[in-house]
Amino acid sequence: MTELSPFEEMSETHAAEEISRLSRELEAHSRLYYVENRPTITDREFDALMARLGALEDAFPHLRRPDSPSQRVGGEPVEGFEQVAHDPPMLSLDNSYDEGELQEWVERSRRLVPDAELSYVAELKVDGVSISLLYEQGALSRAVTRGNGEVGDDVTANVRTLRRLPLRLDGVPERLLLRGEIYMPRTVFQQLNRRREEEGEALYANPRNTTAGTIRLLDSREVARRKLEVAIFQSVTDLGVSTHGEILETLASWGLPVMETWRRCPHVEALRDYIHEWQDERRRLDYETDGVVIKVDGLGLHERMGRTGKAPRWAIAYKFEAEQAETEVLGVTVQVGRTGALTPVAELAPVLLAGTTVKRATLHNYEDLARKDVRVGDFVRVEKGGDIIPKVVSVNLDRRPGGTTPFAIPECCPECGEAVVQFEGEVAVRCVNPACPAIVAQSVEHFVSRNAMDIEGLGEKTVAQLLAAGLIEDYTSLYELTLGELEVLEGWGKKSALNVLAELEKSQQRTLAHLLFAVGIRFVGVGVAKKLAERFRDLDRLMEADRETLEDTPEIGPKVADSLIRFFADAHNRDRLSKLRSHGVTVTQPEPASAVSSDGPFVAKTVVLTGTLSMARGEAKKLLEGAGAKVTGSVSSKTDFVVAGESAGSKLTKAQGLGVKILSEQEMLDMLEEG
Ligand SMILES: [Zn+2]
Repeated sequence: MTELSPFEEMSETHAAEEISRLSRELEAHSRLYYVENRPTITDREFDALMARLGALEDAFPHLRRPDSPSQRVGGEPVEGFEQVAHDPPMLSLDNSYDEGELQEWVERSRRLVPDAELSYVAELKVDGVSISLLYEQGALSRAVTRGNGEVGDDVTANVRTLRRLPLRLDGVPERLLLRGEIYMPRTVFQQLNRRREEEGEALYANPRNTTAGTIRLLDSREVARRKLEVAIFQSVTDLGVSTHGEILETLASWGLPVMETWRRCPHVEALRDYIHEWQDERRRLDYETDGVVIKVDGLGLHERMGRTGKAPRWAIAYKFEAEQAETEVLGVTVQVGRTGALTPVAELAPVLLAGTTVKRATLHNYEDLARKDVRVGDFVRVEKGGDIIPKVVSVNLDRRPGGTTPFAIPECCPECGEAVVQFEGEVAVRCVNPACPAIVAQSVEHFVSRNAMDIEGLGEKTVAQLLAAGLIEDYTSLYELTLGELEVLEGWGKKSALNVLAELEKSQQRTLAHLLFAVGIRFVGVGVAKKLAERFRDLDRLMEADRETLEDTPEIGPKVADSLIRFFADAHNRDRLSKLRSHGVTVTQPEPASAVSSDGPFVAKTVVLTGTLSMARGEAKKLLEGAGAKVTGSVSSKTDFVVAGESAGSKLTKAQGLGVKILSEQEMLDMLEEG
C-alpha cells in the first residue's frame, strides 16, 4: 500500500496560494534574521515552515518557482556552468598604494573635469569574488561570476543559497543589474578549517580562495552549508539618482545587503581620515578587506571622465599595507624537493595573520636564512600578501632569548643522510643521491604528472605505496609492474591494476617532448622540452649533440646546454633512458602541428625581470619565453610574476605594492624545471 501524500487531497489552486503565502512569510523571516538581525520566530518554527513549503513543492513540482526560499538549501548537482557574457563588461579598478598615488589620482581627476567640485564615496573593498546579479520582474534570475570580465560562469543556483540575498525584490526596475562581492566571513572560514582539521583534510589557505572555490562547486547543497555572504556595491541599471551614495542608499532601502561602512567624503582630507581609521580598525571586521574603493560621487561626472582600457577613471582602489604578525620560531625543518634542493621551513607558534592561522613560513633557502639570521626561539615578523605562502620578514632582535645559535647549513640530507653539495654559482644546497627516497618519490610523481607522461591513476599516495612495497625503484621500473604485483596491493584489485597497466601502455606513445620533460632535466621545462624535441626529433640525435649545436637551438642558452650535457653524461641517467627505450617508450617526435608551449606555470603569463641576475637577462628571457611566458619591461597589475635579482629597485617595490608574485632567480629556475 502506498502512503498518501499529506497534500493528496489539496487542489492545485489551493496549493499555489499556500506556496505563495509560505514563500512570502519565509522571505520576511529570513530578512528579519539575516539582514536586520531581529528574528521574531525560533529556528525550529522557521525550519517547520520551510519543511512544509518543501513538501508542498514536492507534491506539486511544477509550482516550484526558481525564486522559492526552498532553493536556499541548494538543488541537484550540475554537470558544469554555462558561460554568460557580461554586458557591459565587469571592469577592474586601478590601484594606489600610498597617499602620494592617491593624491595623483585626485589631481588627475580634477584636471579631467576642472569645472566640477569633486566629492567622493569611500567603501571598504571586501576581499572576495566579484559577482553580477540580475533581477527580472523583481526575481533574482541570474548570477554570473566575473570570469575574465567579459565572460563568466552562471552560478545562479549557488548564489540562491546566500541567505542575506533577497530572491525577490519589490518596487524595483523591471530589469535590475547589480554588481557585488561574495565573501566568506572569517568566523565561518575558521569553523570550516577546524572541521577539516578534525577530519584530517588539508586546510584552506584563506577565505577568498575558499569563496572562489565554493561558488564554483557543482553541488549547491554544499554551497548552502558553507554560509557565504554577499555585499552589493553597484547598480549598472540607472536608478534615476544623481550620486553613487544615493545608489547605495536605494539598494539598502530595497533590502539588499550593502556594507554599512561606506561614507561620503566631501574632500580629500575626509578620504584620508577614512583610510587611516580603517587601516587598523578593519581587523575587527568579520570579513577580510585589503583596501578602500574610492569613487567620484557624482554620476554625471562618471561619463565625462570615462575609462582607460579596462578601468574607470572615476574610481580607484587604495590598498592597505600587507598585514604582518609577530610570532615565535619553534623549529626549523627541511624539505627536500625533486631536484634535491633543501628548503628550510620555519615552524611557528600559531598566529592569526590576515584571517588565517599561520603555523609555517618558508625561509626560501639557507642564504636567506643566514641573512635574516633566524634562530629557533626567535620572535619573527611574518607577512602574507595575496595568497602567497607566508614568509619571514625579519627577526625582532629585542626579543631574542639568550643561548640561541645561528642555524647551520645541514651537512647531510635529512631524508637519506648523504652529504649535501652546493654547486658553484647556486644558492640551493642539494642532496645529489639519486637513491634519496624524497627525490625518487618526487621524480616518479613528476614523471607520471599531466604535462609529463600523463599516467592517470598514479597519484602521490599510489606512488608512495609502490615505493614502500618495493615494487619500483624509480620511474623506469613503472613499466616492469605486473598484474600479479598490483592486484594484491591493499585497496587495489584486478580492475584498478588493469587500468593502471593500460595507462602505462598508453604513456609509451607520448612524444619525445613529453619524455624530455618527464625525466626531469634541470632547466628543461615544458617549453624547452618542446623546442628540443622539435629541433632534434630523436633522442639519440639530441644526446649526441655538442654544445654548439645545442646552443644553436632557438631559445636554448648556455645554461640549458650545460644542463643537458651534464645530464646525458651521467651514466645513471643514460641507463634510465635506455631502460625506458627498451620498455617501448617513444623517443621520437612527430612533425609539429604547432610550436606553441601549451602548459606549465609560465604559459601565457606576463613576467618582468629586474635587478642583477646571475645569468644574462637575455638568457633568462629566452628560458621564460621557451616556457610560454611573455617578458615585458614594466610592472603593472597585469604582471603575473616579477623575477627579482640583486639590488632590484623600483620595479620590485611596485610589484610588492601591487601584490604581484615575486620570484627569486632560483625560484624561477625551479619553476621552469618543475614545469
Ligand atoms: Zn637525500
